[in-house]
Amino acid sequence: MEVEGILSALIPSWSSVVLLFCYFGYLAVAGSVLPGKIVPGAVLSDGSRLHYRCNGLVSLLLLLILLQTGVYMKWMPSTVIADKGFELLSTTFIFSLIVSLILYTTGLKSMNQSSSLRPHATGDFVHDWWFGVQLNPHFFGIDLKFFFVRAGMMGWLLINLSLLAKSYEAGTANVSVILYQLFCTLYVLDYFFYEEFMTSTWDIIAERLGFMLVFGDLVFIPFTFSIQGWWLLKNKVELTKAAIVANCLVFLIGYMIFRGANKQKHVFKKDPKAPIWGKPPKVVGGKLLASGYWGIARHCNYLGDLLLALSFSLPCGVSSAIPYFYPTYLLILLIWRERRDEARCSQKYKEIWVEYCKHVPWRILPYVY
Ligand code: NDP
Repeated sequence: MEVEGILSALIPSWSSVVLLFCYFGYLAVAGSVLPGKIVPGAVLSDGSRLHYRCNGLVSLLLLLILLQTGVYMKWMPSTVIADKGFELLSTTFIFSLIVSLILYTTGLKSMNQSSSLRPHATGDFVHDWWFGVQLNPHFFGIDLKFFFVRAGMMGWLLINLSLLAKSYEAGTANVSVILYQLFCTLYVLDYFFYEEFMTSTWDIIAERLGFMLVFGDLVFIPFTFSIQGWWLLKNKVELTKAAIVANCLVFLIGYMIFRGANKQKHVFKKDPKAPIWGKPPKVVGGKLLASGYWGIARHCNYLGDLLLALSFSLPCGVSSAIPYFYPTYLLILLIWRERRDEARCSQKYKEIWVEYCKHVPWRILPYVY
């Protein structure tokens, strides 16, 4: 597409605004009324705890049924999201900007002294707007941080499915397209199947809600994680059998490490005596798990996620660097994040953390980093 064409496609239309608000409206209602396990969040510094209704999977499945019905009844084309890709991107970006400014101004005025709502302001507008001023802002009882990440992950799947429909229409759906779609779909479904694990992640327990998270969840996740899908629309890739097998192995190994590590930490937090790989866990200072994946590297879960990201790009072959945007970005993000998490943990756990680092010297990849 010419630059001029891209610029005009970026101008938001009313239909993209309506589409976006219908999507958020659905998620707000479904998230509030559909059944789901109520999961207590991490204990905050004032001793309080938030509770999360983990009904993401049922919300997603119902949404897919509703959309499929809409397509079957010819109320909308199955390619609607891909057709409006650019304008949905700019609409969501503008929405993120507006929301983050509202969060900044309302957050600053908050008189609430609880850990989740107390404003943290440095006085530097850019810093406070970017990182946010409140930990867990709410809107009509909806936890916005939990809501936005859910919207972003589901949005990624919806964009992909619309791209798949476009590939079928254009007759370009081949093994590469199927592999890319399959891996991403499994990843998103797994994310919602284990949604309760999200409640103990860094974003939820430690990051305030500012532009960085709102933009990251609503714009960055759905629109950049799907770059491979857009790329495969225009570029045909024929994979050899060996490449297909290698690609599946990268996905399976990545998944095993990613899910295994996150599950072990989650289980450990609930029951520090629960066996890890069939043996009693090694625990440092009574608080940090040093066996299983957490005895191999201090952030083995990041390694798994990186392998998964790579597996989403390998179906595109190696002729272009564009489809490798996601693993490259994730590598930079996770190295940065690991450093920030280390700083936080070393402040929180002090000598226990030093002891843990002696037991487990590797950060992400044993013998390399
Ligand atoms: P983690 O799930 O690794 O959580 C880090 C926290 O876990 C620490 O702050 C500490 O918190 C606790 N912890 C650390 N080490 C130990 C240990 N040995 N024993 C017990 N507790 C420990 O980090 P993230 O939230 O960053 O990541 C969660 C998942 O999300 C990862 O798999 C990551 O790859 C993925 N992710 C994906 C992104 C993407 O764009 N695709 C972006 C960011 C994350 P506490 O104070 O509770 O002890």
